[in-house]
Amino acid sequence: MEFKTVLTVCPYCGCGCNFYLEVLDGKVIGTIPCKTSPVNEGKLCIKGWNVHEFIQDPDRLTMPLIRENGSFREAGWDEALDLVASKLKKIKEQHGPDSIGLFASAKITNEENYVIQKFARAVIGTNNVDHCARL
Ligand code: SF4
Repeated sequence: MEFKTVLTVCPYCGCGCNFYLEVLDGKVIGTIPCKTSPVNEGKLCIKGWNVHEFIQDPDRLTMPLIRENGSFREAGWDEALDLVASKLKKIKEQHGPDSIGLFASAKITNEENYVIQKFARAVIGTNNVDHCARL
């Protein structure tokens, strides 16, 4: 048996609490709050304590789904991204760039949020970009 702990950041909200994931034989089995983190000082909310449970959840989505005839089918990333790109292009051509809006998230990194606003402004051509933390 191999046991190790891995320091990481909670993905559930923008607070950025630090904790160690307990890993046994490659499977995440628990969470230990990081006492030296200035963000959470050894504390976690209920979501942070249970964050490890979704990692191996059998219901977790692990690949894109495309809706066809009222039901979903699994697809590869290239196919899914090509479909999204073609749909966005069609909407932009038919209704203009301001008919599209993008919502960023507190559950992703600052860098990913930056890319979303850059994509909205430089690729789509709209300033319609918002963030759930502003609501
Ligand atoms: S432990 Fe709770 S407060 Fe801390 S980042 Fe996760 S969800 Fe947010």
